[in-house]
Parts: sequence; structure tokens; C-alpha cells
Amino acid sequence: VFLSFEGIDGSGKSTQARLLAEALRATGREVVLTREPGGSPGAEEIRALVLQGDPDRWSAETEILLFTAARRDHLERTIRPALARGAVVICDRFADSTRMYQGLSRGNLRGVVDQLHALMIGVEPDLTVLIDMDPEVGLARAKGRQGVEERFEDFGADLQRRMRAGFLSLAGEFPERFRVIDGARSPEAVAGDVLAVVGGALAS
Ligand code: C5P
Repeated sequence: VFLSFEGIDGSGKSTQARLLAEALRATGREVVLTREPGGSPGAEEIRALVLQGDPDRWSAETEILLFTAARRDHLERTIRPALARGAVVICDRFADSTRMYQGLSRGNLRGVVDQLHALMIGVEPDLTVLIDMDPEVGLARAKGRQGVEERFEDFGADLQRRMRAGFLSLAGEFPERFRVIDGARSPEAVAGDVLAVVGGALAS
């Protein structure tokens, strides 16, 4: 089973992905908790290339190619082998993040993202949990945290607002796969909702 978490910076999706992994492991399942960009040695190298250093180094189009290359490596080396042995894969961001960040933040390149995805990736998660969060709250949370790459912290509230709206509209585009959960509550309350929607998917 392939699960992904999506949401704006500071939405708490990484915490929720970790809490879900712990809850499922406690039931005896093998869980592979992974993330994008990254999730395999090669993809982590690409992550560093894109997220560190001069933000204007890559054009939007080149960035789409780099993220897709990273995703392809992640899929080949980490995700597919894990699914093949029956593990639950929990991915902190997947292609939906590229549809939003690379697809919408610098002009409308969603069509390019989707074409490359069809050509080189071709899979979607069985279930995508969107942790929905007010950008002001999310940004404050992200800024209070170390380790989030500076470049993207500078995105600001306006872009995060567009990303939030974009994610919600994406959830409407793929209603069979997306579950939207209100992230502006305690981590425990959010985790309870996550477990409820994922439990249903694992049982079916
Ligand atoms: O989710 P995480 O904090 O690891 O993401 C690192 C940064 O990369 C985030 O600030 C996010 O905005 C950015 N990002 C991006 N395009 C993606 C995925 C993440 O710009 N496809």
C-alpha cells in the first residue's frame, strides 16, 4: 500500500507521517517511511542540488526535470522494492508537491509536470492525506523550525496561500485518492483522523 502526505510548509505533515508510521509498525506491519524530494541516495543528492544554494540557479523547467529525475530514482530504488515485499510505503510529499510547487509557483507549468509524470513515473499513491492548514499558522510553524531549507522559507505567505488553494483544488480533482484533514488542531487529534482514514484504506 502506497500512502502520501501533502500540505504546505509547516502543516505538520512530516510529524503526521511519522506518527502514522509508528502506529502501523505497532500493529506489526513493515512500514517504509520516506520523503521527497529525496528518499534514495541519488534523489537526496538531487534534493541538495535543488534546495541548497542560489534559488535562481535552475529555471522552473529544469527544476521539474530534476524533481522528476529524483522521483524516478526514489521509485526504482526505494518505493517499488518496498511495495513488492508487501511493506506499507508512507511518503512525505510525492508528485502532487511537484504539481503545486514546480507546476504553479513560477507560471503555469502543470501540463509539463503531468506529461513528464505520465512518461517517467506513472504511479499515484493509493491514498493521499492532505493536511490542510492556514498559511499564516503554517508559515509561523515552519519559521520556528530548524532545518527547513532557507530558500523555501522565503516563499512567504502569499505563495503558501496559493499552494493551499492549489492543494485543495487538487483534492477536488482526485477525490477518490485524496482525504483532506484539518491540521489546525493538536497533533494527537490530527493523528487520530489520519489513522481513521488510512485504517479504512488498509482494510479494503
Ligand atoms: O517537505 P519539506 O520540508 O522536506 O520540503 C522542503 C522544501 O522544498 C519545502 O520548503 C518545499 O516548499 C519545497 N519543495 C518544493 N517542491 C517540491 C517539494 C518541496 O519546492 N516538489
